[in-house]
Amino acid sequence: ATLSLVSVLADTAIRRPEHTALVSGPERISYGALWLAARRCATVLRERGVGPGDRVALLLPNTPAFPTAYFGVLALGATVVPVNALLKAEEIAYILRHSQARLLLCAGSLLGEGDPAARRADVPLMTVDAEAGDTGRPGPDALDALDVLAADAEPLGTPVPRAPDDIALVLYTSGTTGRPKGVLLSHLNLVMNIDTTALSPFAMEADDVLLGCLPLFHTFGQVCGMGTCFRVGATLVLTSRFTPDEALDLMVRERCTVLMGVPTMYLGLLEAAARDPRRPPLARAYSGGSALPVPVLQDIEATFGCPVYEGYGLTEASPCVAYNQPARPRRPGTVGRPVRGVEAEIARSGTEDRIVLLPAGEVGEIVVRGHNVMTGYLDDPEATAAVLVDGWLRTGDLGVKDAEGCLTIVDRKKDMIVRGGYNVYPREVEEVLTRHRSVARVAVVGVPDARYGQEVCAVVVPRPGAAPDAALAEEIVGWSRRHMAAYKYPRRVEFAATLPLGPSGKVLKRELAALLRPGTG
Ligand code: ATP
Repeated sequence: ATLSLVSVLADTAIRRPEHTALVSGPERISYGALWLAARRCATVLRERGVGPGDRVALLLPNTPAFPTAYFGVLALGATVVPVNALLKAEEIAYILRHSQARLLLCAGSLLGEGDPAARRADVPLMTVDAEAGDTGRPGPDALDALDVLAADAEPLGTPVPRAPDDIALVLYTSGTTGRPKGVLLSHLNLVMNIDTTALSPFAMEADDVLLGCLPLFHTFGQVCGMGTCFRVGATLVLTSRFTPDEALDLMVRERCTVLMGVPTMYLGLLEAAARDPRRPPLARAYSGGSALPVPVLQDIEATFGCPVYEGYGLTEASPCVAYNQPARPRRPGTVGRPVRGVEAEIARSGTEDRIVLLPAGEVGEIVVRGHNVMTGYLDDPEATAAVLVDGWLRTGDLGVKDAEGCLTIVDRKKDMIVRGGYNVYPREVEEVLTRHRSVARVAVVGVPDARYGQEVCAVVVPRPGAAPDAALAEEIVGWSRRHMAAYKYPRRVEFAATLPLGPSGKVLKRELAALLRPGTG
């Protein structure tokens, strides 16, 4: 086997060509057929001048077109730039320009934003699964349809070989902390991360059926989901939009054995399971992306009758850093131990220019070293230098390691609240508040305060039946005071119908904090 990301599909297609790789609506696509489609797509792209090292942007939802284009681009030795399908034209144009994309492959359903973005960035666009009229421009000539051309194309023979350090992906972070940054990931980064997770005992098996409800443009769904699934030759059931009731129904119908999701999805699934008594034959569930409160983990295990394994990662680390591995005893509330070949340590925060490691039991910034750490950010030496220090990746996350080497995520450094000189970790306050009977969802943020610098504010989505009024707010504040130290309990409670979520299911804390002015509400 070569250390090339394309081998994740290509090798499996040789090993088990007949096995179903993808389920998408009524469609079932075998590994052999998927690899053939990818190589046909590669031929068309090659005719358009795409070659080794070129960057091709994908604006595609979770349909078979995504892996087809993805592995087609990789087969040419080119670099894939997956674009978040929720972005607006201006944001897409920024990524197209910044990545110097040679071509944009855009789904018909996303042309509304993709077409103006490509024009603005002056990047040629080819459509996938589009119909005349999707662009809003008249006439079928407006479409340069990759899938139509690929249907009659001669499949590419052998994939273009790549060196392990060549860049396979440029994955843009969501940019909740400023402009999106293009994370450069090499073939080695990705293949090693996929192998160390997929091939660890019982993690993912050849006859597993995985619900692919995470977006494929994001590192979690793309590398941990699609990557590990294809690596072992399991089946990926695609959904283009996550709705809890449909996801449950699909898992039951397709007999899914593995579920991978972010905590928000699990909360939704628990609500769906309360309405629908059917259960899929799940053997394992993986959670990551943000903190999974232990009571929620227990609820999932009781409801779906399978163990839940929480993990931790970030785009810059390809992404998996640590997870509760099925072959080891589970430690709910922690994210388990680092994956093979990867070191995760705790460093003193505050000393930004060098890494000072802390002993077990002390809270500090999580730093990562190993085969999974990115090469850097594309064209951004300053941002790169800020996070790649002394051979370590500074994650921006606060954590603590126990004597056995299990990692617990405390919070994001940026989300920490400092109230009157005391550090308050929103995640810890949220964990306590989720136990209150009227609280369905909660996010804790810091708001400016004249006296304490910052005050702790809880934004609560009440449970059905609980009236979001002043009396309930007061009750929650009083309850919090009895359950938490004086410096950390929320003095202010606001109600919301929903929490603003980012593309990877994280609550957008800065957006939420900006909505809250001191003294209002
Ligand atoms: P941004 O651009 O703001 O970094 P993103 O969602 O695009 O957001 P990702 O790389 O997807 O970036 O997210 C990685 C981050 O997710 C980690 O740095 C960490 O803060 C958080 N995270 C991942 N897993 C967990 C977990 N199990 N518990 C708590 N936080 C987690």
